[in-house]
Amino acid sequence: MYLVEGKDKALLIDTGLGVAKLGDFVKTLTRLPVTVVNTHGHPDHAGGNNQFKSVYAHPLEFAAIRQTNSAESRKRAAENMMKSAAGSDMVSGEEAVKMPAAETLPLKDGHLFDLGGRKLEVIVTPGHTPGEIVLLDAANRIVFTGDNDNSLVWLFLPTCTPLEVYLQSLKKLQQRASGFDTIMPGHGAPLPKSFIGEQVACVEAILDGTCKGEPYKSFAGNALVCRYKSAAVAFNPDNLRVKK
Ligand SMILES: [Zn+2]
Repeated sequence: MYLVEGKDKALLIDTGLGVAKLGDFVKTLTRLPVTVVNTHGHPDHAGGNNQFKSVYAHPLEFAAIRQTNSAESRKRAAENMMKSAAGSDMVSGEEAVKMPAAETLPLKDGHLFDLGGRKLEVIVTPGHTPGEIVLLDAANRIVFTGDNDNSLVWLFLPTCTPLEVYLQSLKKLQQRASGFDTIMPGHGAPLPKSFIGEQVACVEAILDGTCKGEPYKSFAGNALVCRYKSAAVAFNPDNLRVKK
């Protein structure tokens, strides 16, 4: 998660798992009114939405956000986390199921969050999810990228787009590279913008068959993984091309 302050407003990018009292914590960081946006609807990015009145997201993420914030899903996440990291700043299972859903507000490519003296532009980058977005803070030369540019990106989930669609998104972001130097990923440390070129090379090697992939195992399923320099992409070999 990232909290970005302008002069008049702050923007909270993603809401985490939703097992801690994020809304209260954010108030300790900023006195400005807070607008909230999800890069995508996965449980580790949109899990805390119910602690806020409204959250912006791409409409193709609305179904995932609803699922992530269902009473059952909230309760399960809270109870799992209580086992390992119980604390007074946690949201209990009982509290979690009582929280009303945040209103989801639609955004599209080019949407501008004007925070007063600081603007963040939405760039839609389908791949990891169909409505994944990144947020470009061109004046400060930073891009916040959700799960689009992690050091290892998951492209094997059933809801991921075909890999060739993700390649187009990487190239779209690369075309904007004159506007930023630093990538703030959803997981891991900041990366230099040259990383996107490594991701492009990695995906191209998968699509042209140069890289066949090594087995990759995770709690979300098994896949293949290819690496190029510091980039890695875990993919499903049956979901490379758009089916005509
Ligand atoms: Zn994700």
